[in-house]
Amino acid sequence: MVINMASNSTEAELQHVIDRIKECGFTPHVTRGSERAIVAAVGSGGNRSALEALKAAPGVEDVVPIAHPFKLVSRQTRSGRTRVQVGEVCIGGDEAVVIAGPCSVESREQLFSTARGIKAAGATMLRGGAYKPRTSPYDFQGLGVEALRLLREVREETGLPIVTEVMSTEDIDVISEHADMLQVGARNMQNFALLRQLAKVDKPILLKRGPSASVKEWLLAAEYLLAGGNPNVVLCERGIKTFETEMRNTLDLAAVALARELSHLPVIVDPSHGTGRRDLIQPASRAALAIGADGLIIEVHPCPERALSDGAQSLNLEEFAKVMASLSAPLRSVAAAFAAQA
Ligand code: PEP
Ligand code: MN
Repeated sequence: MVINMASNSTEAELQHVIDRIKECGFTPHVTRGSERAIVAAVGSGGNRSALEALKAAPGVEDVVPIAHPFKLVSRQTRSGRTRVQVGEVCIGGDEAVVIAGPCSVESREQLFSTARGIKAAGATMLRGGAYKPRTSPYDFQGLGVEALRLLREVREETGLPIVTEVMSTEDIDVISEHADMLQVGARNMQNFALLRQLAKVDKPILLKRGPSASVKEWLLAAEYLLAGGNPNVVLCERGIKTFETEMRNTLDLAAVALARELSHLPVIVDPSHGTGRRDLIQPASRAALAIGADGLIIEVHPCPERALSDGAQSLNLEEFAKVMASLSAPLRSVAAAFAAQA
């Protein structure tokens, strides 16, 4: 249930509603908009009819059921859109954000030249895998802690905030010490033990959509993070499995528009994994921004043919600069324009 407070309600009236929600056996989650507060009452097993009776409480405008199985993630439980701050970078704000960097951190030289190049081209955040989810156990698995140290060093030089993947609960502490944002990879989207632990971490989370996950399942995975106490979640569409064979995945851009319609969370797009082909990164990036994505995450390598992972979908620095140049200011503000109209 959502309890919408009246715009002229008092703090005491809000507190009464919060207390009653607890007495009825639910957990209250308050969001304060510029005009009024909204209180979501979530949980199972509580007394719903007692909650509905809150309609008669002073300062309450209305009490409405939440239409979807995801609650805190739903647009109904918040006024306005969530902005996720990662260092100096705001995801979900006035301008689409571009995150770029290698699939895997391979060496100091590779990481530093990529970071300098993407920064010069206008990217504002750096990606780089330290712990890699590889289909084959014989493939390069990432440099682990050594990669984390390099990422931290490169942030010191460039000022670019870092996002890197966490695959296992046991790596959360060390990754949180080094990175600014933690990525849940597509394969782990429904690793509920991992999500529960990440809900307790004081770092923003980039939650990739599973290759076979519906939009509802993706939003319910995000619900684990919000319900467990972490409101700083960015969704990432990275392509799903279909019958198509010419591309690694099928980039589901309509899901971006749908996720933004259903949820207040920012949604970014990964055209690299979404297509698996460097020739499609530019058109896919432009289409993603045009449909309202809040940003992009793009794989870049100084020499893609030598990359230890995902070379075929990685851009070199020159190609990346061209893609950046093709993302005009109006294109980069589509998401904000849609948000202003909503
Ligand atoms: C990655 O970002 O390098 C990655 C492995 O992505 P995904 O989880 O989307 O496959
Ligand atoms: Mn990759």
